[in-house]
Amino acid sequence: MGLSFASLDSAPASDLLAWAIATYGRRFAVVTSFQLEGMVVLDIAARLDPQVRVITLDTGRLPDETYRMIDLVRDRYGVQVEVILPDAGEVGRMVALHGVNLFYREVPLRRLCCHFRKVLPLERALRDVDAIAVGLRRGQSEQRAGVPKIDRGATPAKLSPLADWTRDELEAYQAAHHVPVHPLYAKGYTSIGCAPCTRAVAADEAERAGRWWWETEADKECGLHFSATGQVERKLDVLISEVVSA
Ligand code: SF4
Repeated sequence: MGLSFASLDSAPASDLLAWAIATYGRRFAVVTSFQLEGMVVLDIAARLDPQVRVITLDTGRLPDETYRMIDLVRDRYGVQVEVILPDAGEVGRMVALHGVNLFYREVPLRRLCCHFRKVLPLERALRDVDAIAVGLRRGQSEQRAGVPKIDRGATPAKLSPLADWTRDELEAYQAAHHVPVHPLYAKGYTSIGCAPCTRAVAADEAERAGRWWWETEADKECGLHFSATGQVERKLDVLISEVVSA
C-alpha cells in the first residue's frame, strides 16, 4: 500500500485499513463491540482481508443481543471472533468488596468495574498485536472531537478509520453494503455497551447519553480510549490497589 506515514492522517477508511493489513498482517486486529461504527470498520476490513482478526470483549454483563451479534458476524463474514474474558479472580475480589452492581454508586467504582472487566483484559489480549482499528468518530461526543485517524502514541497503535465520518455517512454505508445491525438500535439505543449501564435515548438526547445515564458530570468513557483524570483517577488508583491486594 503506497501511503506515506504522514498521509495516513487524511487517508480514506479503506486505504488506512489496507495499509494496516499490509503493514501488520496478523499483528493487526479490528476491536469491536458490534455497534454500527465497529461493524462498518469490520465490513471494510473483511472485504480487504477475509481472514482479518476480530477481537471483542465479553465483560460478563453484555446484553443477549450482543452475544447474538457475535454469532451473526461469524456466519456472515466467516471470521473467527476472538472473545476476551476478564480475569475471574480479579472480578471475584472486586465484587466481594463492592457488590455486583457497584457502578451505580459513584464514578470511581464504575471506572473500577470497567477497569477489571474491560481495560485490563483488553490490555492483556493485545500483547501480541501492534495495531488495532476501532470505531471512534469525532461526531460521537465532545470527548471524541479530536480523535486522530491514527494514534501513534498508543500501544498498540490505534486506528480510527471512521474518525471523520458523519452518522449519515455511516448509515449510508451500512445500507449500501447490508452490514448487520445490532438489534438494540431498533429499540431506541444509539450507543451500546453493558446491559446494566446502557439505555435507549430520546430523540433530543446526545448519542452517548444512554451510557451510564445516571452520571451527570462524568465523561461517558470507560477507560478503553480515554483515561480517568483528577479526583476520579486518584480514587480509582486506590480502589484498584485494594482489589489487587484483597
Ligand atoms: S459498562 Fe458497566 S458493567 Fe460494563 S464494565 Fe463498565 S461499569 Fe461494568
